[in-house]
Amino acid sequence: MYFDENNNIVIEEDDECITCANLNKGVACPLIQALAQGVVFMEDSLTVSNCGFYEKFERHLRLVIPLDK
Ligand code: SF4
Repeated sequence: MYFDENNNIVIEEDDECITCANLNKGVACPLIQALAQGVVFMEDSLTVSNCGFYEKFERHLRLVIPLDK
């Protein structure tokens, strides 16, 4: 995870956030919310692992069969 040149938070593939439900909800992530509000500062970059707020994101897909015309 790092800030890009436009001050956007970039999540990388090795961050635990990739499979976290809180990332999918956006501001539901306490760390990203704190970074966005400037409460927490990040120097350079960090790899997120063993995050205490982690919630596994489960994708629920259903197969939709097209109706006959
Ligand atoms: S709760 Fe933790 S693992 Fe989930 S998106 Fe936020 S920082 Fe990443």
